[in-house]
Order: sequence, then C-alpha cells, then structure tokens
Amino acid sequence: MTGQYRITLLPGDGIGPEIMSVTVELLKVIGEKFNIQFDFTEAVIGGAAIDATGEPLPAKTLEICRNSDAVLLAAIGGYKWDNLPRHQRPETGLLGLRAGLGLFANLRPATIFPQLVDASTLKREVVEGVDVMVVRELTGGIYFGQPKGIFATETGQKRGVNTMGYTEAEIDRIAKVGFETAQKRSGKLCSVDKANVLDVSQLWRDRVTNMAQEYPDVELSHLYVDNAAMQLVRAPKQFDTIVTGNLFGDILSDISAMLTGSIGMLPSASLGADGPGLFEPVHGSAPDIAGQNKANPLAMVLSAAMMLRYELNQPQAANSIEKAVSQVLERGDRTGDIMSEGMNLLGCTAMGEALIEVIKIQ
Ligand code: NAD
Repeated sequence: MTGQYRITLLPGDGIGPEIMSVTVELLKVIGEKFNIQFDFTEAVIGGAAIDATGEPLPAKTLEICRNSDAVLLAAIGGYKWDNLPRHQRPETGLLGLRAGLGLFANLRPATIFPQLVDASTLKREVVEGVDVMVVRELTGGIYFGQPKGIFATETGQKRGVNTMGYTEAEIDRIAKVGFETAQKRSGKLCSVDKANVLDVSQLWRDRVTNMAQEYPDVELSHLYVDNAAMQLVRAPKQFDTIVTGNLFGDILSDISAMLTGSIGMLPSASLGADGPGLFEPVHGSAPDIAGQNKANPLAMVLSAAMMLRYELNQPQAANSIEKAVSQVLERGDRTGDIMSEGMNLLGCTAMGEALIEVIKIQ
C-alpha cells in the first residue's frame, strides 16, 4: 500500500452529484492501479444541507472535513435557494468551509489542452501550449482588512472604505506556497503586486525577494498587476507559476482561466497551513443542465488529480488522471460544452467510463 487516505466527499447541488459520482468511480480504479486506499465519507453542504438541516454548512460536515486528509467538493447553489437571506444561502456554506479549514492559498491552473485550443477566444498561436498556475492569497488583503464599511463624513457625504493590508507572516506563508508550487512545475515564479503605488505591495515584494534565497532552484520575477494582466492576454506562455494577493489573484485567475475558453475543464485547490485542503472545479452547479447527464466531469476529475499531487503527494496517480483526460480528448470524446464537429458526443457517465477505460490500459 503506497497510501491510505480519508477523503470527504461534498457532492453539493445541481450537477454536483453527477460529476462527483464519476470522480469517485475513477478514484477507485486509480486506487487499485497505484495501490492507494481511499476511505470515502460523504457529507452535505450548500442547498442540499439547507434542505436536510436548515443550514448551508452543518457543524457535522465541518467536523467530518476537519478529520479527513482531503476534501473533494463538486458545486453548490441553485435557483431554489436564491431568495434566502444571505446567511442561509448555499454560498455562505462554501465561504464558511474555506474559513473553517483555514484555507489561505488558492491554486488555479489554466492549461490549454491541444485538442481544445479552438475554444479559446485568443489566436491559436498565442494560447497553444499555455500552462499557467495562479497561486492566490485567499484569507487576507483588501477583502478582509479593517477598517471597512460605509461611513458618514463631516460634509454629510458617505465614504466607502476597504483596507488592503498584509503582515509579514501572511506574505511569507503564501510566498512559500508559490515557491513550492513552482518547484513542482517548471521552476519559474512571477510575483505580482503594485509596489510602484502601494506600501503593502512594497512589503510584499521585499518579503518574496527575501524568501527567494531559500529556493535557489526557482527563477523569481516581479510584475506590476496592470502589466501582468496585459501580459497574460498578450503572451501567456511566458508564465508558469504566478503568486499574488487576494484582489489581484481574483482578477488574474479569471483572466488566465478564460484563456482556455472552457469552464468545464478548470480545476482548483485551496490549501491551509495544516489540515486538509479543498479541491473543487471552478465552475458552479450548472442548474440549467442538472440531472440530465450532460455535465462535463473533467474539471472535477482534474480537481481530484490536484488533490493527489498537492495534498496526498501521489504524483504518478495525478499524472495518470491528467493523461487520461488528454487521451479521451485525443480520441474525440466530448461532452456538450466542449463539443465540436466530427467529435463523439458523450454524457457525463459515459465520459467517466471512457476515462476508466483508458486508465486501465495506460
Ligand atoms: P455555472 O458555472 O454553474 O454555469 C455557467 C454556465 O456554464 C452554464 O451554462 C452551465 O451549464 C455551464 N457549465 C458550468 N459547468 C459546467 C460543466 N461542468 N459541464 C457543462 N457545462 C457547465 O455558473 P452560474 O450559472 O453563474 O451559477 C449557477 C449556480 O452555481 C449559482 O447558484 C451560483 O451561485 C453557483 N456557483 C457555485 C460555485 C461553486 O460551487 N464553487 C461557483 C460558481 C457559481
């Protein structure tokens, strides 16, 4: 046995249960192939939890997650719960889970599969071969800094305030994730800030530069965020790993994701200092196609591959899943969202079966 892991499964809402079921069947096959034992425990979150318990993140779900080695989440949300008060909304459950697990680093890869290069809105020669990873700080910066709010001023005008702040410790821990992620990839790290204008960014730049001494095998560069946004669209292949704060990362990860053109293909990982990480597709619960066996399970499956690589340290198993995704695309298998002329249209379960078929003969 090369490993034994407790995995919490949070299928959630909409297409969540469909893509989760495909992923679990695939992990069972991966477990056999690589001699890994997965002990799965399922729990409710989001709308499914509201229906079952009245709240989007029951204490029991959080406890199960905390007691596991990794958490796989499919998606939450749907029309049915859209009009509930904010604290009872499915999204509140997801935010509570991220906070409850102390997940401060969000990893979002944007990989262009050669077979899907035409799905991008950018020219083929610009995006072909793109493989970018954005490491975004998730629990600090302007979304959380104090003071914040809308205040009355002496002139009677209201003034909206948010505060961008990072402590040295906050910068160091996300920079470390950035360097280690770059080490697991091609060894290039670009730190993005706004140090020409913001003091908080100057501290960020100083700390990241300082940490580079501990990682002589990583080639570090710095870019201002406005330039980074331009460069991502102009020449994305120059990037490998990007590390940045919460606000800049929010924007840059969406830009890099859109280079690929297909939301059904994008996985993500959120990591904490210790304790389990959370692995989930970038897309939502797609209520418009839920229950119709039309969902693309590949973002969820690729999230499981990230779990194997970044949390469980099983790179061979992760490679096997990623290779399988490439192989099924290569032979022309497509779900509706990535369908093009002459390809084989498959449902969600058939795509899962196709993956298992290729993994067995890899
Ligand atoms: P969405 O990502 O669910 O859907 C956007 C479009 O992409 C839809 O047309 C959908 O059919 C399609 N799509 C998404 N994933 C797909 C897949 N795997 N296969 C095929 N097609 C796919 O975003 P939305 O419509 O803005 O939101 C729907 C619900 O999801 C909302 O309740 C929202 O709050 C929630 N949401 C949840 C998360 C999450 O769980 N992390 C993220 C975003 C949105």
